[in-house]
Amino acid sequence: MRAAFREALPAWFDGARRPMPWREPGPDGRRDPYRVWVSEVMLQQTRVETATPYFRRFTERFPTVRDLAEAGQDEVLKLWEGLGYYSRARNLHRAAQQVVADHDGEVPSDEEAFRALPGAGPYTAAAVLSLAFDTPLAVLDGNVIRVLTRVFAIDADARSGRTRRQLQDLADVLLDPAHPGRWNESVMELGATVCTPRSPACPRCPLNDVCQAYARGAPEAFPVVSKRAPVPHHTIAVGLVIDDASRVLIQRRPEDAMLGGLWEFPGGKVEDGETPGEACVRELREELAVEVEVSAPIARVEHAYSHFRITMHAFRCRLVSGEPASETGEPIAWVPIDALDDYAFPRANRRVIEALIEEARAPRLL
Ligand code: SF4
Repeated sequence: MRAAFREALPAWFDGARRPMPWREPGPDGRRDPYRVWVSEVMLQQTRVETATPYFRRFTERFPTVRDLAEAGQDEVLKLWEGLGYYSRARNLHRAAQQVVADHDGEVPSDEEAFRALPGAGPYTAAAVLSLAFDTPLAVLDGNVIRVLTRVFAIDADARSGRTRRQLQDLADVLLDPAHPGRWNESVMELGATVCTPRSPACPRCPLNDVCQAYARGAPEAFPVVSKRAPVPHHTIAVGLVIDDASRVLIQRRPEDAMLGGLWEFPGGKVEDGETPGEACVRELREELAVEVEVSAPIARVEHAYSHFRITMHAFRCRLVSGEPASETGEPIAWVPIDALDDYAFPRANRRVIEALIEEARAPRLL
């Protein structure tokens, strides 16, 4: 079994490895730990095809840890806009500042020092340190879990902590200590391209001789996962308060909140017994101490986050009284419609902006 994982699999990888910008070695023939780190953070919860253009733009603007550390958070979030899970960007930014302050701008190769950086969990540490420094740490991500549970026909719940620990132990034992980076990438690549969740390409898999799930003719029966609870749904109302100079009122989300540091249109959850329009008026009163009049809806957006779904109703609003001021002290700004693109917004808000711009461009009938 070990031979299959340490010989057949990496040999297959050498011929099948997909070119990716973060896989290219630098002038010294080694991979740049900073680029590996950025890619690993971006690739969490994100497909390679989606992450690649973001990676190129991000590393063109911030080619080194120091460039990232010196940037403002708004610019970092703007370059991350659309990738989701924005705490990854905020943590990476703070971690870069810590690397400059404590490690003279060199990404630490020591596991304890790396794990002390914001957002550096066991997965990121194992991936970055093994790929950049060949530190013998086995990665356990969704691809690795799928490959291991299939090869060993592990039918315990793969979401449970106990099974995760067993799988990590298994990966640690199988890891090739002489080439840990190559080994990790081989397993992840196999999971991403051959041992896929549906219709795995078993006949051309380098592990098919030893794979128990394949021998049973049931690869898709693994991994076994417990059912998740139904995803909650929230109805949200937001107001687009537009002044006579065609500027829109936006506010920044608190740092410690979900989507923290991004900008958004003011609003909130629709309560029981309220219409979305009524909720919009109430939320703006509570959040910004203003009275608004709601007119026609501009957009209705459906959006799914990892743990809940929303339906967002966006209304054009007229300021009736009051001077907007955030109740929580977060920054607010009046921004011309055509300058909204300079700010980082969550995806649902971005779709509202698209609808607003389309409306502004549409010929007036009256
Ligand atoms: S033989 Fe099939 S199920 Fe087994 S590891 Fe390979 S692709 Fe996955």
